[in-house]
Amino acid sequence: TVSLPQLLDWLSRFSALVTENRTYLTELDSAIGDADHGVNMVRGMTAVMEKVGAAPPEAVDALFKMVGMTMVSTVGGASGPLYGTFFLRFGTTAGAVTELDGATLAAALRAGFEGVIARGKAELNDKTMVDAMSPAVDALDAAVAGGASVSDAAAAAFSAAEAGREATIPLVARKGRASYLGERSAGHLDPGATSTAMLFESLAGALA
Ligand code: ADP
Ligand code: MG
Ligand code: MG
Repeated sequence: TVSLPQLLDWLSRFSALVTENRTYLTELDSAIGDADHGVNMVRGMTAVMEKVGAAPPEAVDALFKMVGMTMVSTVGGASGPLYGTFFLRFGTTAGAVTELDGATLAAALRAGFEGVIARGKAELNDKTMVDAMSPAVDALDAAVAGGASVSDAAAAAFSAAEAGREATIPLVARKGRASYLGERSAGHLDPGATSTAMLFESLAGALA
């Protein structure tokens, strides 16, 4: 099972990772976007950690509602509403609980992913965060269904997210600012797929 403190650790690790990689994420976005993805993610996750630290919610749904609303309200870019929707749907699907079993974790992550699709309308291979999130959620589902521990399932999800992130390099962007570049967007990592791989790296770290 996954406890509330482990979910808080997930968020705290994600905040630390995007902060460590702020310049890197912004450099990736400067190649095919407007050079703010690192700044956006750090602004959002710093605000999240401040809010959560000031008044730690006692149930998973309340925690992720706070996280999602904070991402939506503090991040100006496309990534704010997308990550915000991910966290909001994660929370509503998990429910007013203090612990998740593997199947509930898988269902909550899938609901979060479906929220990103509903909001951003990206498809696989459009060179977005979806390219890291979709294989990660599939890998976690398959691992949990096959009887793996949540720890092994999260590690499998992280590997799949990394592979999905790398696969964005040759792609031509079809959604978001990078799509304005057309063919010139090929040959670069997608910034959002890179931060999404960090989201799963953080989950794997928290559940290890
Ligand atoms: P902005 O592009 O508004 O400056 P960010 O730089 O913070 O916002 O985020 C850019 C990332 O958002 C992209 O690298 C991509 O992964 C993701 N993204 C953009 N549009 C979409 C979309 N419609 N669906 C899914 N992800 C998207
Ligand atoms: Mg940007
Ligand atoms: Mg921007």
